[in-house]
Amino acid sequence: MTNTDGSRAGSMLAELAAAASALDAADPLRHHRDAFVGAETSLVYFDGNSLGRPPRASVDRLAAFARDEWGQRLIRGWDEEWMQLPFDIGDRIGGAAIGAAPGQTVVGDSTTVLLYKLVRAAFDAASADDPARVEIVVDRDNFPTDRYLVEGIAAERGGRVRWVDVDVASGVTAEALSAAVGPTTAVVLLSHVAYRSGYLADAATLTRIAHEAGALIVWDLCHSAGSVPVQADEWDFDIAVGCTYKYLNGGPGSPAFAYVAARLQDRLVQPIQGWMGAADVFAMGPTYAPASGMRRFLSGTPPIVGMLAMQDTLSLIEDAGIDAIRAKSVALTEFAVRVSDALLGPLGATVASPRTAAERGGHVTLSHPVMRAVTARLWSEDVIPDYRDPGGLRIGLSPLSTSFAETLDGLRAVESALRAEASAG
Ligand SMILES: *Cc1c(COP(=O)(O)O)cnc(C)c1O
Repeated sequence: MTNTDGSRAGSMLAELAAAASALDAADPLRHHRDAFVGAETSLVYFDGNSLGRPPRASVDRLAAFARDEWGQRLIRGWDEEWMQLPFDIGDRIGGAAIGAAPGQTVVGDSTTVLLYKLVRAAFDAASADDPARVEIVVDRDNFPTDRYLVEGIAAERGGRVRWVDVDVASGVTAEALSAAVGPTTAVVLLSHVAYRSGYLADAATLTRIAHEAGALIVWDLCHSAGSVPVQADEWDFDIAVGCTYKYLNGGPGSPAFAYVAARLQDRLVQPIQGWMGAADVFAMGPTYAPASGMRRFLSGTPPIVGMLAMQDTLSLIEDAGIDAIRAKSVALTEFAVRVSDALLGPLGATVASPRTAAERGGHVTLSHPVMRAVTARLWSEDVIPDYRDPGGLRIGLSPLSTSFAETLDGLRAVESALRAEASAG
C-alpha cells in the first residue's frame, strides 16, 4: 500500500466512523440496546437473526418464575395462569408483530412441528374439498425443515411436492408462483424473508396468487417476526408459523407461534391429537374431539418455561412499534451494504442480498469463497456472524440491540479476517 492509498483508506474509515456515530445519535431506538445482556461489552453480535440476545429483564423474570410461581404456586399455576399463557402471549405477538386480531395466534411447539401440523391440516382440508388438489408448492431455496416436512406430508397423504426454482438473489416472485399453482394445488408454503439471501417476499401479492388458484397458503415468518412488519389479517393470510428465539429473543429453543385465520380454524384438523387440544381437556373422554378455536392446534402440555423470556421483547416491541423497528432495520442493512461495498468489495466479497431495501429483510449476506474460514476466525475474536453455504457470511442486524458503531466494528473485523484468510489460501 502506498502512502496515498493509506491516507485514502484512512479518510474513508474516518468518514464511515463519522457516519456510524451520526446514525447512532439520530437513532430513536438507541436506548433499547441497553435492555439486552452483553450490550456493554465489545463483542459484536451479528447473529440476532438466529438466536437473539437475552433481554436483561428476562434474567430476573426467569429467576422469579422459578422462585415464586413454580416454587410457590406449584400445580395451582396451571389454573391461575399457565393454561392461558400460550394464548395471551400469542395475542401479544399477533398485535405487536404480525398484524393479527386476538384469538388467532398461539405459542406452541417448535416451528418444525407447528409447520408439520398446519401444512398437513391445510393439505387435508384442501384435498377434502377437491380431491384433485394433491400438490404442495414450495421453493427449492426454502429453509431445510420446510422442504423436508412437505416431502414427508406428501408421502403420507399420497400427494406430491411441486418445487419452485428460484434465483436466490430475487426469491419467489409473483411470476414464479403463478406458474407453479393451479387446479391441482392444495397448499403453498413460503418464507416471508429468505433465510440465506434475506430476500423479502411480497406476501400480500403471493397470498392473492395462491388464493386465486384456489389453494391455501402457509407463511413461514421465522426471519420476519419482530423485524419486518407483517399484516396477517390485512394480507388475508390463511396460516403462518414463526420462530420466537430469533428477533423475539425468547432464548434457545423457545417455542414457536402459529397463526390461523379465524375463518379457517374450525375447518382444520391437525394430526397430533393430544389431550391439550381436545374439546374438554379435563373430561378425559374416551375419544378425541378437537376444541374449537386456536386450542385445537395444541397437542400436549405447553412449554411454559420456554415462553417466559419472549414477553420482555414483546414489551420492547410494543413500546418501540414495529414500524420504527423496521425503519431502524432498513437503516442498519443500508449501512452494512455501504460499509461492505467500501471495505470488502475491493477484496472480492459481494453483497448477495437484494440491494433494494424494500426487497430485503433484516440480514445481509456477503459472499466470498473463504467465508467459512472467515467465520471461524471471527468467532474466536468475539465477532459473531454465521455462515451459510455456498460462501455466505450472514450479518444479522437486530434492530433493538444492534448499533451502527457495532456494525462498523464488526465489518472492519470481517475485512481483517478476509485479508488474513485470502492470503493464507
Ligand atoms: C430458523 C428457522 C426454522 C427453525 O425451525 P425450528 O423448528 O425452530 O428448528 C424454520 N424455518 C425457517 C425459515 C427458519 O429460519
